[in-house]
Amino acid sequence: MYGLGILKGMAVTLKHFVTTYLDDIYWVARGGRYYNDDALQVRQSLKGRGVITVFYPEEKLPVPERFRFVPFLVTDDPPPGQKWGHDWCTSCGICAKVCPPQCIWIERGKQPNGRPKPEPEKFFIDIDICMNCGLCAEFCPFDAIKMDHDYELASYDRSTAHIHDKERLSKPISYWREIAPKKAAAEAAAREFVEAAKARKKAKRGGEADAGEEPRLPEEVLRQLPYRGEYY
Ligand code: SF4
Ligand code: SF4
Repeated sequence: MYGLGILKGMAVTLKHFVTTYLDDIYWVARGGRYYNDDALQVRQSLKGRGVITVFYPEEKLPVPERFRFVPFLVTDDPPPGQKWGHDWCTSCGICAKVCPPQCIWIERGKQPNGRPKPEPEKFFIDIDICMNCGLCAEFCPFDAIKMDHDYELASYDRSTAHIHDKERLSKPISYWREIAPKKAAAEAAAREFVEAAKARKKAKRGGEADAGEEPRLPEEVLRQLPYRGEYY
């Protein structure tokens, strides 16, 4: 029948229109529909209903912890008067190797005697090419590169402003703890676990009594870092 498709489309639009207001009413007594972690969980699941609209850029919705945007480099928290602390990156080059569009360039530092230094002298990411896949962060063995939540990177100058250098990329670990508290805590626990495992191995080599079965990473850590279960 002519016009049936149009009617069906209108019905879907009407359904979204009505459920938007019903959902608004549902969340009024539960802390609101927009700036609320519980509402965010529902919105991101198949149970999400209605249309979500905010007056961006005046209003911004919080992004979930697992949100991924252009990566940044982790440093220690800076000493007083400085912007960054020591780089966590050892310039091993693994992130540049696994990056699918090959948008990472690293230049390793050199010691005064000419030997390589485990720190990057230069580090660039072309953010026009980066597709925010997060593989660099997944593969980095030193937790030194993380996916950022800062998605407002548009500029009028794409020839220089879109090549992020080491200075632009570096952010202290406290920033990562702030934007991804659960994951940062799980990574810290995993690092401690590795250090403890190394100490146990050393003690074994030194002839100390074997303390029994090797412990496993706790479940709550594996939930945050499932891929690490393959290694620990
Ligand atoms: S960010 Fe990580 S993977 Fe990339 S070079 Fe540095 S230490 Fe290696
Ligand atoms: S997020 Fe993906 S594309 Fe972007 S730098 Fe990392 S590996 Fe490359």
